[in-house]
Amino acid sequence: MTPRLRLQPEAVGMGMTSQRVRDRLIDRLRDGTHGGGGITDERVLNAIRTVPRHLFVDEALATRAYEDTALPIGHGQTISQPWVVAKMTEALYADGRQPAKVLEVGTGSGYQATILAALGIEVFTVERIGELLRVARKRFRSLGLNVRSKHDDGRIGWPEEAPFDGIVVTAAAPALVDALTAQLAPGGILVAPVGAPGGQVLACLRARADGSIERTDLAPVSFVPLLSGVLG
Ligand code: SAH
Repeated sequence: MTPRLRLQPEAVGMGMTSQRVRDRLIDRLRDGTHGGGGITDERVLNAIRTVPRHLFVDEALATRAYEDTALPIGHGQTISQPWVVAKMTEALYADGRQPAKVLEVGTGSGYQATILAALGIEVFTVERIGELLRVARKRFRSLGLNVRSKHDDGRIGWPEEAPFDGIVVTAAAPALVDALTAQLAPGGILVAPVGAPGGQVLACLRARADGSIERTDLAPVSFVPLLSGVLG
Protein backbone atom coordinates (compact mmCIF):
# COMPACT_ATOMS: atom_id res chain seq x y z
CA MET A 1 0.00 0.00 0.00
CA THR A 2 1.37 3.42 -0.91
CA PRO A 3 1.56 5.66 2.14
CA ARG A 4 -0.75 8.63 1.80
CA LEU A 5 1.60 11.12 3.35
CA ARG A 6 2.47 14.61 2.26
CA LEU A 7 6.14 14.82 3.19
CA GLN A 8 7.62 18.32 3.22
CA PRO A 9 11.33 18.63 2.38
CA GLU A 10 12.11 19.44 6.04
CA ALA A 11 10.23 16.30 7.10
CA VAL A 12 12.59 14.10 5.13
CA GLY A 13 15.35 15.46 7.33
CA MET A 14 19.10 15.30 7.66
CA GLY A 15 21.62 14.27 10.30
CA MET A 16 20.11 12.36 13.20
CA THR A 17 16.81 12.15 11.36
CA SER A 18 18.36 10.88 8.12
CA GLN A 19 17.13 7.86 6.20
CA ARG A 20 20.18 5.91 7.37
CA VAL A 21 19.21 6.43 11.01
CA ARG A 22 15.65 5.35 10.23
CA ASP A 23 16.85 2.26 8.39
CA ARG A 24 18.85 1.29 11.47
CA LEU A 25 15.63 1.40 13.48
CA ILE A 26 13.94 -0.87 10.92
CA ASP A 27 16.83 -3.38 11.23
CA ARG A 28 16.37 -3.36 14.97
CA LEU A 29 12.60 -3.95 14.73
CA ARG A 30 13.22 -6.85 12.38
CA ASP A 31 15.99 -8.57 14.30
CA GLY A 32 13.90 -10.32 16.93
CA THR A 33 16.10 -9.61 19.96
CA HIS A 34 13.03 -8.18 21.71
CA GLY A 35 11.14 -10.27 24.24
CA GLY A 36 8.16 -10.33 21.90
CA GLY A 37 10.04 -11.23 18.69
CA GLY A 38 10.94 -9.40 15.49
CA ILE A 39 8.53 -7.59 13.18
CA THR A 40 8.13 -9.36 9.84
CA ASP A 41 5.25 -7.57 8.07
CA GLU A 42 6.91 -5.50 5.33
CA ARG A 43 3.90 -3.17 5.04
CA VAL A 44 4.26 -2.23 8.70
CA LEU A 45 8.05 -1.87 8.49
CA ASN A 46 7.63 0.32 5.44
CA ALA A 47 5.13 2.59 7.20
CA ILE A 48 7.57 3.01 10.10
CA ARG A 49 10.40 3.74 7.66
CA THR A 50 8.26 6.37 5.91
CA VAL A 51 6.63 8.25 8.79
CA PRO A 52 9.00 10.89 10.26
CA ARG A 53 8.77 10.09 14.01
CA HIS A 54 10.84 13.16 14.89
CA LEU A 55 7.85 15.34 13.96
CA PHE A 56 5.85 13.71 16.78
CA VAL A 57 8.17 14.73 19.63
CA ASP A 58 9.53 17.98 20.99
CA GLU A 59 12.38 19.45 18.94
CA ALA A 60 14.74 18.88 21.88
CA LEU A 61 14.08 15.12 21.61
CA ALA A 62 14.20 14.91 17.79
CA THR A 63 17.70 13.39 17.81
CA ARG A 64 16.34 10.44 19.84
CA ALA A 65 13.25 9.91 17.70
CA TYR A 66 14.70 6.89 15.84
CA GLU A 67 15.80 5.06 18.95
CA ASP A 68 13.56 2.15 19.83
CA THR A 69 12.28 3.77 23.02
CA ALA A 70 9.20 5.54 24.34
CA LEU A 71 9.75 9.30 24.76
CA PRO A 72 7.93 11.92 26.84
CA ILE A 73 5.31 14.07 25.05
CA GLY A 74 4.20 16.18 28.05
CA HIS A 75 1.28 15.82 30.47
CA GLY A 76 3.00 12.74 31.91
CA GLN A 77 2.36 10.83 28.66
CA THR A 78 4.68 9.11 26.17
CA ILE A 79 4.91 8.34 22.47
CA SER A 80 5.07 4.53 22.40
CA GLN A 81 8.25 2.61 21.59
CA PRO A 82 8.44 1.94 17.81
CA TRP A 83 8.61 -1.83 18.37
CA VAL A 84 5.34 -1.69 20.34
CA VAL A 85 3.67 0.43 17.64
CA ALA A 86 4.87 -2.05 15.01
CA LYS A 87 3.74 -5.08 17.02
CA MET A 88 0.25 -3.66 17.63
CA THR A 89 -0.13 -2.66 13.99
CA GLU A 90 1.13 -6.03 12.73
CA ALA A 91 -1.39 -7.82 14.97
CA LEU A 92 -4.25 -6.19 13.02
CA TYR A 93 -3.07 -8.02 9.87
CA ALA A 94 -3.12 -11.50 11.49
CA ASP A 95 -4.26 -14.43 9.31
CA GLY A 96 -4.27 -12.40 6.11
CA ARG A 97 -6.77 -9.81 7.38
CA GLN A 98 -6.88 -6.37 5.75
CA PRO A 99 -8.20 -3.90 8.31
CA ALA A 100 -10.05 -1.05 6.58
CA LYS A 101 -11.40 0.85 9.58
CA VAL A 102 -9.57 1.09 12.90
CA LEU A 103 -10.24 2.82 16.22
CA GLU A 104 -7.35 4.00 18.36
CA VAL A 105 -7.85 4.87 22.03
CA GLY A 106 -5.16 7.31 23.23
CA THR A 107 -4.08 9.60 20.36
CA GLY A 108 -1.15 11.05 22.35
CA SER A 109 1.34 12.43 19.81
CA GLY A 110 -0.64 11.09 16.85
CA TYR A 111 2.20 8.77 15.78
CA GLN A 112 0.34 5.43 15.98
CA ALA A 113 -2.67 6.95 14.18
CA THR A 114 -0.34 8.23 11.45
CA ILE A 115 1.26 4.79 10.99
CA LEU A 116 -2.23 3.31 10.53
CA ALA A 117 -3.25 6.06 8.11
CA ALA A 118 -0.01 5.56 6.15
CA LEU A 119 -1.12 1.96 5.64
CA GLY A 120 -4.27 3.22 3.94
CA ILE A 121 -6.50 2.48 6.95
CA GLU A 122 -9.44 4.76 7.82
CA VAL A 123 -8.50 5.89 11.33
CA PHE A 124 -10.68 7.09 14.21
CA THR A 125 -8.76 8.18 17.32
CA VAL A 126 -9.87 9.36 20.76
CA GLU A 127 -7.80 11.32 23.31
CA ARG A 128 -8.82 12.54 26.79
CA ILE A 129 -6.21 15.35 27.05
CA GLY A 130 -7.37 18.29 24.91
CA GLU A 131 -3.93 19.90 24.59
CA LEU A 132 -2.32 16.72 23.25
CA LEU A 133 -5.16 16.26 20.79
CA ARG A 134 -4.82 19.81 19.45
CA VAL A 135 -1.13 19.26 18.69
CA ALA A 136 -1.79 15.84 17.14
CA ARG A 137 -4.49 17.33 14.88
CA LYS A 138 -2.01 19.92 13.60
CA ARG A 139 0.35 17.07 12.70
CA PHE A 140 -2.39 15.17 10.85
CA ARG A 141 -3.21 18.34 8.90
CA SER A 142 0.37 19.16 7.97
CA LEU A 143 0.93 15.57 6.79
CA GLY A 144 -2.25 15.77 4.69
CA LEU A 145 -3.91 12.91 6.60
CA ASN A 146 -7.62 12.46 6.98
CA VAL A 147 -7.67 11.04 10.52
CA ARG A 148 -10.96 11.45 12.42
CA SER A 149 -10.46 12.37 16.06
CA LYS A 150 -12.47 13.30 19.11
CA HIS A 151 -11.81 14.67 22.58
CA ASP A 152 -13.45 12.15 24.88
CA ASP A 153 -12.96 9.30 27.32
CA GLY A 154 -11.99 6.55 24.88
CA ARG A 155 -13.16 3.77 27.18
CA ILE A 156 -16.59 4.24 25.63
CA GLY A 157 -15.07 3.79 22.17
CA TRP A 158 -16.83 5.49 19.26
CA PRO A 159 -20.24 3.76 19.13
CA GLU A 160 -21.58 5.92 16.26
CA GLU A 161 -18.76 4.69 14.01
CA ALA A 162 -18.67 1.05 15.18
CA PRO A 163 -18.05 -1.66 14.18
CA PHE A 164 -14.29 -1.54 13.60
CA ASP A 165 -12.05 -4.10 11.90
CA GLY A 166 -9.41 -3.26 14.46
CA ILE A 167 -9.15 -1.46 17.81
CA VAL A 168 -5.80 -0.36 19.21
CA VAL A 169 -5.70 0.76 22.84
CA THR A 170 -2.48 2.61 23.66
CA ALA A 171 -2.95 2.98 27.44
CA ALA A 172 -3.18 0.16 29.97
CA ALA A 173 -6.16 -0.88 32.07
CA PRO A 174 -6.27 -3.56 34.80
CA ALA A 175 -8.76 -5.51 32.65
CA LEU A 176 -10.04 -5.44 29.07
CA VAL A 177 -12.81 -2.90 28.48
CA ASP A 178 -16.00 -4.70 27.39
CA ALA A 179 -17.47 -1.59 25.70
CA LEU A 180 -14.53 -1.64 23.29
CA THR A 181 -14.60 -5.36 22.56
CA ALA A 182 -18.30 -4.93 21.74
CA GLN A 183 -17.38 -2.49 18.94
CA LEU A 184 -15.34 -5.07 17.00
CA ALA A 185 -16.70 -6.27 13.67
CA PRO A 186 -16.99 -10.07 13.23
CA GLY A 187 -13.42 -11.22 12.55
CA GLY A 188 -12.10 -7.97 14.06
CA ILE A 189 -8.99 -7.70 16.23
CA LEU A 190 -8.43 -5.66 19.39
CA VAL A 191 -4.89 -5.10 20.71
CA ALA A 192 -4.53 -3.64 24.20
CA PRO A 193 -2.07 -3.58 27.09
CA VAL A 194 -3.68 -5.17 30.16
CA GLY A 195 -2.57 -5.52 33.77
CA ALA A 196 -1.11 -3.61 36.69
CA PRO A 197 2.05 -1.46 36.26
CA GLY A 198 5.06 -3.80 36.17
CA GLY A 199 2.92 -6.74 35.05
CA GLN A 200 1.29 -5.63 31.80
CA VAL A 201 0.93 -7.84 28.73
CA LEU A 202 -0.08 -6.91 25.22
CA ALA A 203 -3.32 -8.83 24.71
CA CYS A 204 -4.73 -9.58 21.27
CA LEU A 205 -8.43 -10.44 21.03
CA ARG A 206 -10.02 -11.87 17.90
CA ALA A 207 -13.77 -11.70 17.49
CA ARG A 208 -14.94 -14.86 15.72
CA ALA A 209 -17.87 -14.84 13.35
CA ASP A 210 -19.92 -16.85 15.91
CA GLY A 211 -19.49 -14.04 18.47
CA SER A 212 -16.91 -15.81 20.64
CA ILE A 213 -13.59 -14.11 21.49
CA GLU A 214 -10.15 -15.71 21.35
CA ARG A 215 -7.29 -14.15 23.37
CA THR A 216 -3.54 -14.41 22.72
CA ASP A 217 -0.90 -12.58 24.78
CA LEU A 218 1.81 -11.15 22.52
CA ALA A 219 4.49 -9.73 24.84
CA PRO A 220 5.21 -8.05 28.18
CA VAL A 221 4.83 -4.27 27.78
CA SER A 222 4.83 -1.04 29.78
CA PHE A 223 2.18 1.60 29.01
CA VAL A 224 0.82 4.69 30.75
CA PRO A 225 -2.56 4.10 32.44
CA LEU A 226 -5.95 4.31 30.75
CA LEU A 227 -7.69 6.99 32.83
CA SER A 228 -11.30 8.13 33.12
CA GLY A 229 -12.76 11.52 32.26
CA VAL A 230 -11.42 14.28 30.02
CA LEU A 231 -8.94 17.13 30.56
CA GLY A 232 -8.93 20.47 28.68
N1 SAH B 1 -0.75 6.31 20.65
C1 SAH B 1 0.01 7.36 21.27
C2 SAH B 1 0.54 6.92 22.64
C3 SAH B 1 0.14 7.91 23.67
S1 SAH B 1 0.30 7.44 25.34
C4 SAH B 1 1.14 7.84 20.36
O1 SAH B 1 1.33 7.25 19.29
O2 SAH B 1 1.80 8.82 20.69
C5 SAH B 1 -1.38 7.07 25.73
C6 SAH B 1 -2.38 8.17 25.55
O3 SAH B 1 -3.63 7.66 25.99
C7 SAH B 1 -2.11 9.44 26.35
O4 SAH B 1 -2.10 10.53 25.50
C8 SAH B 1 -3.30 9.50 27.31
O5 SAH B 1 -3.74 10.82 27.59
C9 SAH B 1 -4.35 8.73 26.55
N2 SAH B 1 -5.43 8.19 27.36
C10 SAH B 1 -5.37 7.63 28.60
N3 SAH B 1 -6.59 7.26 29.00
C11 SAH B 1 -7.45 7.58 27.98
C12 SAH B 1 -8.86 7.47 27.80
N4 SAH B 1 -9.66 6.93 28.73
N5 SAH B 1 -9.40 7.91 26.64
C13 SAH B 1 -8.61 8.47 25.68
N6 SAH B 1 -7.29 8.63 25.81
C14 SAH B 1 -6.71 8.19 26.95
